[in-house]
Amino acid sequence: MVVSEVRARELLRIRGTTPVVHLGAEFESAPGVDLKVVLRQRTIDMWQEEWSASHTGKTTRLFLPRVQTRLELDLPLNRLITRTLTGHFQDCGDYRKRILTLVGEDGLCEHCGVLDDTVHRIQTCPRYEEKRNDAMLALGLTVGGEIPLDQIPLNGVAWKLLAEFSRPLASHD
Ligand SMILES: [Zn+2]
Repeated sequence: MVVSEVRARELLRIRGTTPVVHLGAEFESAPGVDLKVVLRQRTIDMWQEEWSASHTGKTTRLFLPRVQTRLELDLPLNRLITRTLTGHFQDCGDYRKRILTLVGEDGLCEHCGVLDDTVHRIQTCPRYEEKRNDAMLALGLTVGGEIPLDQIPLNGVAWKLLAEFSRPLASHD
C-alpha cells in the first residue's frame, strides 16, 4: 500500500470525513461505496499505468504484465528465478554486452549465435529444450510450440522451472 493510500485511509478512519485526496484525485463517500476499495483500486490502476509505460522491466513485464495478477499471486522467488525474470545474469550474452558493457561481448548465444536473453532461452535455445518441454508440460501445452510467458506465473511448477533458464551454463554441459 502506498503512503498516499495509507494517509487517505487514516483520514477516513480518524475523521470519517470525505473527500479524501489520494494520488492527486479527490474521493467522496457515497451510499453503497466502500471508499477503501475505491482507494485501493486507484492505487493499482496508477501502478499499472506506470508499469505499462516504464522503460525498465521489459523482460519482467513479459511474465507479469498485470499488477493486479502479481498482487493476487503468491510467487516464491529465489536468485535464479529473479535472474530469469530480469534477464540479468552473468552468463547471459545480452546482459554481458548491454548492461555490463564488457569489451568483446557480442550478446549472442554461444550455442546458437542469436541474441542470448531470457526469451531466447525459454522459447528457442536447443540447450534448454528439456527444461522448456518440462515447462510446456506443466502448462498443459503441446511440446514444440511457443510458451505464453504470462501464463508461467499462474502455474507453480512452471514458475519454479524459471530458475533453470539462468543457471550457469557449466551446469548444463
Ligand atoms: Zn541459444
